[in-house]
Amino acid sequence: MMTRKKNAQSGERGSIIKHGDFLTWGICYPGPRPAANGSLGWQVIYREIAALDAWRCERFFYDRHWQDATGRLRGVDSGRPAGDCQILAVSLYYENDYFAVLAMLRDMGIPWRRSQRSAEFPLLLAGGPCASANPLPLQQVFDGFVVGEGEEVCRQLAEVYQRAAGRQAGREELLAEWAELASVYVPDYSRRPARRATVTDLDRYDGGAVFYGGESVFDDMFLLEIARGCGRGCGFCLAGSIYRPPRFRRRQGLLAAARRAVGVCSRVGLVGTAVADHPQLKDLIADLLTIGLESSPASLRADRVDGELAGLLRRCRLNTLTIAPEAGSPRLRAAINKGLDEEQILAAAEVAATAGFSRLRFYFMVGLPGEEEEDITAIVRLMAMVRRLTGRRTALVASVNPFVPKPFTQLAGAGMFPAGYYQRVKRRLAAELRRQAGCQLTAWPGTHHFFAQALLANGDEQVGEALLQAAAGRERGFGGLKRNLAAMGIDWQEYLSGRQSNRLGQIIDG
Ligand code: SF4
Repeated sequence: MMTRKKNAQSGERGSIIKHGDFLTWGICYPGPRPAANGSLGWQVIYREIAALDAWRCERFFYDRHWQDATGRLRGVDSGRPAGDCQILAVSLYYENDYFAVLAMLRDMGIPWRRSQRSAEFPLLLAGGPCASANPLPLQQVFDGFVVGEGEEVCRQLAEVYQRAAGRQAGREELLAEWAELASVYVPDYSRRPARRATVTDLDRYDGGAVFYGGESVFDDMFLLEIARGCGRGCGFCLAGSIYRPPRFRRRQGLLAAARRAVGVCSRVGLVGTAVADHPQLKDLIADLLTIGLESSPASLRADRVDGELAGLLRRCRLNTLTIAPEAGSPRLRAAINKGLDEEQILAAAEVAATAGFSRLRFYFMVGLPGEEEEDITAIVRLMAMVRRLTGRRTALVASVNPFVPKPFTQLAGAGMFPAGYYQRVKRRLAAELRRQAGCQLTAWPGTHHFFAQALLANGDEQVGEALLQAAAGRERGFGGLKRNLAAMGIDWQEYLSGRQSNRLGQIIDG
């Protein structure tokens, strides 16, 4: 009762409440509600499962707000404990969330290791980009991994569960049946690599947010997935590698979904792997404006920005345009297969400044394979060229982060640089961008965060063991991973030197 009151007070719409006797699929987000509502992936699964006759969904957010007096985490929709669910599913978006996922399970009273969970505990499933890229570090934790896009697979998992429960099959029998599904990896049960699931016809599924109007990191915004997959083939990009081919939702369906937001939100967040490649993007933005909704795309490819698009986005009162050159020099952009030349980047900046954008943000990575001092110089030089084109009235921000190699990408085998390199590059960029380009630098706070990400992205069962031990101890994050790997006699740097586990190819059909 209390939770329903809290949900109503938050102004949030979307919760599908079912009373009666249902199987319960818990959806866990390893962060607070505003962060969860700013993410679309788990909401898609909520919609699919809640639509099944035999199932109800329960949301769990990792937030003290949802703990009871004993510290136990309770469901957002009914206030029930996680132990009441038959299945608990987590979408893994970022490797650095793994510690939060484990802390969340602890606060739910769920043992971390599947070997320690008896049949009275829910079955644990993982999905999302990290589960699709490398389940190995978490395979002691999760009973199953959804590999690829989840809409159809989560229904298959639910239906198999339901049939198995109907004939009172044991857990082993159920896991063996899950392992038969083409896009599910079940540790100890799968006998062949899981094939990535791809939704062929996106328009069969609603692209809009389930939850909106309440607390969200994107205030006053309705999230709308307009495209999925990308065919551009940037060598570093996990999303571009595992979500293929590019698919675009039709304008009519998108408009129908967006109409739900009219009178509730004023802005539509256009979500997708390659939003700017949508062939009807301009028409869609114009259509949304006619029903009173402004659009906000996450970032745009420079080669898709022209005067008409920039003008439309300014009509949406957008003041910041984000472009991702990724590397400063044409040589390095070619090496990572970014497929953007300098003229295209400069033309996009000029068009945006002319249209009246007051701020331009540029994403760069450092520590790319083959990077040299002159490539860092090239970032400063590129920003200085943009400054000359745009004049002082346009604020320029260079947002720079270390490159992290990800499995199944073209740069999967690339190593990372020693920690000192990143610190030196950061100091250099901070000084030179301000002095020579009049540009602000938003740089990564700590390199260790990215080393932890790389370890978990490329790690195997041993990294998984170090993760569990670190999460149980006092020193979490990179320090804990490094110390526990060392205690096992393993040099953490080996994982960042480009070594890939052969095991990955045996469990996922890349
Ligand atoms: S970085 Fe963007 S354009 Fe490149 S592959 Fe990824 S989604 Fe596509």
